Amino acid sequence: VEVVVNALGNEGEGVGHTQDGYTVFVKDALPGDVIRAKLMKCKKQYAFGRLVEILTPSKDRVPAVCEKARVCGGCQIQEIAYEKQLEFKADKVKSNLIRIGGVKNPPMEPIIGMDEPWRYRNKAQFPFGRDKNGQTICGFYAGRTHTIIPNTDCLLGIQENKQVLEAVLSYMEQCHVKPYEESSQRGLIRHVLIRKGHYSGQIMVCLIINGKSLPKPDVLISKLCDIEGMHSISISSNEKNTNVILGETYETIWGEDTIEDTVFRVEEKDGQWERKEDMGVTFRISPLSFYQVNPVQMERLYSTALSYAGLTGREMVWDLYCGIGTISLFLAKKAARVYGVEIVPQAIRDAKENAERNGLDNVEFYVGKAEEVLPEFYSRMDAGSGMLHPDVIVVDPPRKGCDEACLSTMVKMQPQRIVYVSCDSATLARDVKYLRENGYELKRFRACDMFGNTGHVETVCLLSKKP
Ligand code: SAH
Repeated sequence: VEVVVNALGNEGEGVGHTQDGYTVFVKDALPGDVIRAKLMKCKKQYAFGRLVEILTPSKDRVPAVCEKARVCGGCQIQEIAYEKQLEFKADKVKSNLIRIGGVKNPPMEPIIGMDEPWRYRNKAQFPFGRDKNGQTICGFYAGRTHTIIPNTDCLLGIQENKQVLEAVLSYMEQCHVKPYEESSQRGLIRHVLIRKGHYSGQIMVCLIINGKSLPKPDVLISKLCDIEGMHSISISSNEKNTNVILGETYETIWGEDTIEDTVFRVEEKDGQWERKEDMGVTFRISPLSFYQVNPVQMERLYSTALSYAGLTGREMVWDLYCGIGTISLFLAKKAARVYGVEIVPQAIRDAKENAERNGLDNVEFYVGKAEEVLPEFYSRMDAGSGMLHPDVIVVDPPRKGCDEACLSTMVKMQPQRIVYVSCDSATLARDVKYLRENGYELKRFRACDMFGNTGHVETVCLLSKKP
């Protein structure tokens, strides 16, 4: 069928209509394209199609930089000019806040774009497997399936990925180490995680294995050690047949357990971001902890969140879903007291250590679900324990957003301001709707592009208690 494409869907796919008004979703088609598509899966209201031919290209179309752009699941919108990508992302956030959040005139500030949408990811997890000829390969999954598209030099990732992956492949060949096979659940190497400290330059490699140990680890270590910046080599055992990548624990086989990175406050002036050396926080990051993957945009996002929090030094602040305390410690520099809550115990261990290393003694961290820890504190507060009500609550939940028990307790605690950092604008809008219905108004928000060339977008919102 011929399809006129006029929008981008949630996953960065083109959305268009056939002549008789039937809606079709087509991966790799862009708004403005007229295409021929093959319908693959038809429903009553809409269909999924495959791009067969571009009849008239969109004026925003640019050639893909990576030759694997279409087959690989990593990027979705590489063929849209970057400025247009930013427009699309800002629109997506805004329209979700209108449609789902019920906000009539969303108070949007300009999206924070990247200076260079390539080589920005300081972390990646590469699956290992075999190609049709039985050759060991590693790369990225094709979208929606676990077919591995071989690639050791993804253009979103750091240059060193290639050296690391080639070292692992060469070790596997030399020592007859097999890649994991999902179908039979046999073979050893499942994934290789690589992470690099933006300021420290320290590199961490963690092999996720279907077993307890590596044969001849010294061979691997000697190959990896040659790479400049190598700082930590570990293994994490994962013998389960699930899609979860990492194991529950890890064991360092060479170097340190963690790498270090620093996050500075940055300030925007005439469209340029300036680093403020006076406010930097240094973190130790272990292989299993969550840490934002785009260090440059992370500073801009957190600095925006910090400015939304409007701290003067006297505030009580909660940071829910705090991970290794990245935002908490940033806040602690400007607040009287900060409480962080996070579900992963190892991350809290890192967070406590990070607070100590930065000489911050006004932070406390709690392990548990935000939706359980917060209500428990609230009941103690209510019972007159002398605990003070928070002035500001910051949340940075995973894609599924906040649990209602968490939101309702936040509302009961009556902070002046809520700063909501989100990686999924649909669940953000759902939660904003709840908060708006319960005494808060959306004051400001800003989208931030942490993931150029993909369909994802991060957002930070400021909600204030209605007078
Ligand atoms: N603010 C941190 C982490 C954000 S990612 C940073 O910017 O680095 C979201 C975090 O929420 C993850 O660390 C995840 O482990 C944690 N998490 C997921 N569900 C949770 C829950 N129900 N309660 C508390 N933390 C949760």
